[in-house]
Amino acid sequence: MVIQSSQQPASGASSYPDPMIDGHFGSYGGQFVPETLMPALGELVAAFGEARSDPEFTRKLADFERTYSGRPTPVHYARRLTERLGGAQVYLKREDLAHTGAHKINNALGQGLLAQHMGKKRIIAETGAGQHGVAAATVCAMLGLQCIVYMGEGDIRRQALNVFRMKLMGAEVRPVYSGTATLKDAKNEAIRDWVTNVNDTYYMIGSALGPHPYPIMVRHFQSVIGIEARTQMLESTGKLPDTVIACVGGGSNAIGIFYPFIGDADVQLIGVEAAGAGVATDKHCATLVAGSPGVLHGTRSYLLHDADGQVMETHSISAGLDYPGVGPEHSFLKDSGRATYVAIDDRTAVGALHLLSETEGIIPALESAHAIAYAAELAPSLSRSHAVLVNVSGRGDKDMETVSRELGLTLGIDADAGGRR
Ligand SMILES: *Cc1c(COP(=O)(O)O)cnc(C)c1O
Repeated sequence: MVIQSSQQPASGASSYPDPMIDGHFGSYGGQFVPETLMPALGELVAAFGEARSDPEFTRKLADFERTYSGRPTPVHYARRLTERLGGAQVYLKREDLAHTGAHKINNALGQGLLAQHMGKKRIIAETGAGQHGVAAATVCAMLGLQCIVYMGEGDIRRQALNVFRMKLMGAEVRPVYSGTATLKDAKNEAIRDWVTNVNDTYYMIGSALGPHPYPIMVRHFQSVIGIEARTQMLESTGKLPDTVIACVGGGSNAIGIFYPFIGDADVQLIGVEAAGAGVATDKHCATLVAGSPGVLHGTRSYLLHDADGQVMETHSISAGLDYPGVGPEHSFLKDSGRATYVAIDDRTAVGALHLLSETEGIIPALESAHAIAYAAELAPSLSRSHAVLVNVSGRGDKDMETVSRELGLTLGIDADAGGRR
């Protein structure tokens, strides 16, 4: 398979912002960080700019993607799902088949190699549910880098298995007790560490978020998803997909599959956020659908804040979507109209996880199930000549306990068999 290495969107996107110049996507993005971090961000902008145009770095990354991460991941034509829905043809990009079971490895691998390239041997990361922590620990073990993961004390208790995975691979997990002891507090602590140890430390952010250059750097490393999928769709259907759908937490898997299609004006891009218990309640994390612009964790973007301007406590059944912010490029894409954002609630996502499991034998992550759910709502109203490409960002093994609690009784499957409840 021919994989194009072009990282600029195809023709037709000449008005698209190039944040390498000023770090902004229209009025979004930027570098809202303490003064002491500005030199480190400057160093990172330079190192990333050099690495992405260095054929040696690019070749090394591509080699590891092939031999370590298991790329390219396939595109699967979902025949039985398509028949069940009775409309558009549904294709699945299988990021669930990447090493560690999700797309997060693409970014961790790219940034790990960049850290090594910069001569930094100490890696810090923050994690919520533990999925980025596991991806960071994985890559650090493989490259022989020290790995310290900041994690809220509450999350450590809830995600004991991911904590065990990280430790097994040699990472140190540092509990964070401040605030609500969750992801945003872990992020604050990681930033504090970076300020103190900036000379020998590389800060590995897990989504297309944070101060410039992180949003475009994460996009660069995740774009391999869309670059592959574009070629794979052309090879198997002879045309580009009409619609591309991906779930949006921070926005890394979505921007990874969207970006190589941005210049293809006929390709509709749809991001699916988590509506949790409903967008009308205060238990959701549909940032683009229901939020408004503000500044969080170093970047200006859409945010969920309450009437007093305080960042909202969010909720989703899928831990990976449960964050009150979103990457700045998605804010730009929303305002410009190039991409559309919708939200799917917990119950509908669980139903879609079940639907994909029984029609295709693929158990998606609960995050990815949000994208499947929207595809399932859309497909029946479209013609049979319409092709919908859905990004299956990860596999659902990690969610089986949650799903068995939600669905076991309804399905008559004995979720208590293991005596867990
Ligand atoms: C973390 C995660 C997400 C959400 O993160 P994005 O940066 O929005 O992609 C989605 N799917 C899976 C499987 C994840 O682990």
